[in-house]
Amino acid sequence: MPELPEVESLRRILVRSAVGRTIVKVRVGEKRLRQSVASDFAANIIGRRIVKLSRRAKYLIVELDGDHVMLVHLGMSGSLTHRQAGFRVDDFDPRHDHLEFLLDDDTRLVYNDPRRFGLIRLVERAALTSTAELKGLGPEPLSREFSAGYLAAKARGRTAAIKNVIMDQRIVAGIGNIYASEILFRAGVRPTRRAGRVTRGEIEKIAAATPLILRAAIGSNGTTFRSYRDSRGQPGRFADRLRVYGREGEPCFTCSTPIRNIVVGQRASFYCPKCQR
Ligand SMILES: [Zn+2]
Repeated sequence: MPELPEVESLRRILVRSAVGRTIVKVRVGEKRLRQSVASDFAANIIGRRIVKLSRRAKYLIVELDGDHVMLVHLGMSGSLTHRQAGFRVDDFDPRHDHLEFLLDDDTRLVYNDPRRFGLIRLVERAALTSTAELKGLGPEPLSREFSAGYLAAKARGRTAAIKNVIMDQRIVAGIGNIYASEILFRAGVRPTRRAGRVTRGEIEKIAAATPLILRAAIGSNGTTFRSYRDSRGQPGRFADRLRVYGREGEPCFTCSTPIRNIVVGQRASFYCPKCQR
């Protein structure tokens, strides 16, 4: 499932190919995504120029000239690729190309989503921060607002597992299961620890590990799982750098103890029983 690094990688790649281009044609295939694509969707964006690409949490925000911005969430299995004429990548199945945007240089942006949990909708620019998807989100983990002091205040007195706290989008936005696991390994803290019992020193380690892990993942274009590919159809390379996620039973790279997998908040949670306390 794409998290902040996958969406940020996508944004950085699309900035080069899509910003400044005008959308000349829209093909809507399957309308039934997480929400149905609105019937006036195509009419509202044809002829619009893409002026900026930004990101908030796991949402890509395609800013158009005029009154609207396009909010994109990749759901479980979505991808948005920039394709040249004659593009061929066997990983993509044309049956799952649900939306296609033809640009004025004859290239295309294609939204592919086999499981259809993704979301694409137009939002009025003025209403963006108060829209249902974005309002109430916590600070960006790569911003100065996210600090050890902030996390300590949010963790104080909480009985929830620390892993659930850092995955809570109202506390900090954009971190999901993969990167939460990797952050806690780097910080040496078990995912099951009650947030309110995590020491100040450990909170500082978590706050310090968060941007390190996320920036490294962005630098590798994220992690590949199932159908996620970056915008050129290339798999992310961070999978090679995962220390615990998906490694149950395999030896810890630090101490050789087999990595364990337990369920925390209904999600698989990987950790090293020796390195994480
Ligand atoms: Zn270990």
